[in-house]
Amino acid sequence: MEMIRRPRRLRATKAIRDLVHENDVRVSDLIYPVFVVEGENIKEEIPSMPGIYHYSLDTFKVHLDEVYGLGVRSIIFFGVPDHKDEVGSGAYAMDGIVQRALRLTKAAYPEMICIADICLCEYTSHGHCGLISGDKILNDPTLELLSRAAVSCAKSGADIVAPSDMMDGRIGHMRHALDTAGCEDTLIMAYSIKYASAYYGPFREAADSAPAFGDRRSYQMDWRNKNEALIEAGLDVEEGADILMVKPALAYLDMVKLISDEFPLPLCTYSVSGEYSMMKAAALNGWINEKAVVMESMTAMKRAGANMIITYYAPDIARWLREDA
Ligand SMILES: [Zn+2]
Repeated sequence: MEMIRRPRRLRATKAIRDLVHENDVRVSDLIYPVFVVEGENIKEEIPSMPGIYHYSLDTFKVHLDEVYGLGVRSIIFFGVPDHKDEVGSGAYAMDGIVQRALRLTKAAYPEMICIADICLCEYTSHGHCGLISGDKILNDPTLELLSRAAVSCAKSGADIVAPSDMMDGRIGHMRHALDTAGCEDTLIMAYSIKYASAYYGPFREAADSAPAFGDRRSYQMDWRNKNEALIEAGLDVEEGADILMVKPALAYLDMVKLISDEFPLPLCTYSVSGEYSMMKAAALNGWINEKAVVMESMTAMKRAGANMIITYYAPDIARWLREDA
């Protein structure tokens, strides 16, 4: 008689499933995005991202104590300045809002991994990621300013700088600038594969960074393309990136898999604002089991090949993992 193959044996009990499981999410995989603003006593919820706030530095410190207590050990900072200008000078001011948040965090918790998102769009009056001339986004003159922003953040305590602008040549330019400034130990996490995605909608409200004219399709990637990602990632590796990134995450797991298979560098994926908002909205309506859907989604990102995940759910996941331990 034919023997039946019985894969169900490996699923028979929770203990066996736990013994043979292949992938999981740990709190050390998570990077938590934080929006810091000028002022005092500000903790303002972002309407399209329930549970996510703008923090002034004093209220951020209270939140920082809480997330540190939960075991979160990596934060990526986004600044929302009071003052915006044509050249995004807030991005590279030594007393810029992110620079001060970095110093505060490092003073309180030296072991917290501080990541500075490097771009101009939150700081420019026109909301684009580079300098403009007419309706053109200038590439090479922008590099100088991005590198200045990276050095000022590195000198303020950033362990990792993460350029998100998608200008050509920025990784090499930034590596050289960091090395020249004595910041040769600062890591570069490159937003290598960053698509011009509609999933960023809620972030633009959060960071007040919607472009005043046009869109970002002349620098961010076309989501119809795959091969282009290999070129972008290859250039970033050549130019000295330490960590690569695919953004967004959930609709781009094929790209996470592709980049993780093709390049031996650590890989991050950014589960963006739109992903958070969709899960949160469905959860608040009672339509999904929030914890189950979030954990399944994050594990899928790990299974696709991501080593780390930027997610607004980081504190919640840290809490859930603790509850389940
Ligand atoms: Zn930008």
